[in-house]
Amino acid sequence: MDFDLKITGGTIIDGTGAPGYAGDVAIKNGKIAALGDVKGRAAETIDAKGRVVTPGFVDIHTHYDAQLLWDRMMTISPWHGVTTVVMGNCGFTVAPTRPEHRGLIMRTLEKVEGMSLEALEGGLGYDWPFETFEQYLDTIEQRGTAINCAAQIGHTAVRMYVMGEEATERAATADEIARMREIVKHAIQAGAVGFATSKAVTHVGYAGKPVASRKATLDEIKTLVGALREAGGGVVQTAVARRTA
Ligand SMILES: [Zn+2]
Repeated sequence: MDFDLKITGGTIIDGTGAPGYAGDVAIKNGKIAALGDVKGRAAETIDAKGRVVTPGFVDIHTHYDAQLLWDRMMTISPWHGVTTVVMGNCGFTVAPTRPEHRGLIMRTLEKVEGMSLEALEGGLGYDWPFETFEQYLDTIEQRGTAINCAAQIGHTAVRMYVMGEEATERAATADEIARMREIVKHAIQAGAVGFATSKAVTHVGYAGKPVASRKATLDEIKTLVGALREAGGGVVQTAVARRTA
């Protein structure tokens, strides 16, 4: 047998920017071995006539942080050809979260991302198997996911973890910022791909309050982002708005 798999007759969009063309894709040992008009036999053949054959898409802005705990298929992204998602955007992660704040975090997700509280309570409940971000990563790794996922550490969760409910009310003290910075640093070291935050006025959380990150000063954000360099790198994602009040 020449190949393990042949995907025949589809329109190949190869991701280089080149126009699509009709052809076959042949795979051997997990790698693309031939493209175009491929001769040779394969153990398995998929007829892709009338379909597009492409590399997987990377969706850099998703909010699967809670959903993937009850839906490892990460519905519906794979249906659209997405093979990698980035989560934690806008700072809305479910970790780190203290047990007493689980309800507030779910109500924040309900407000800012339009997730149904009923679905969150049904899928996640109040008995979470993690508290820290490191434990969250361990949890999703143990359970597995249908596609690749990259998690950012979220400012709003970090702020509530350190400041409690005052996180939505005021600026942080120097001591609180220092504690947040340690959490961000450890999250990056544990495998977070970056730090995410939001200053968008449209991001309103539970009880109509601004999400916690909106109460951060620019100095706080700079200090937390500074942890990335110390921890070895990572991206910074932020939702901004013309007004930040
Ligand atoms: Zn977002």
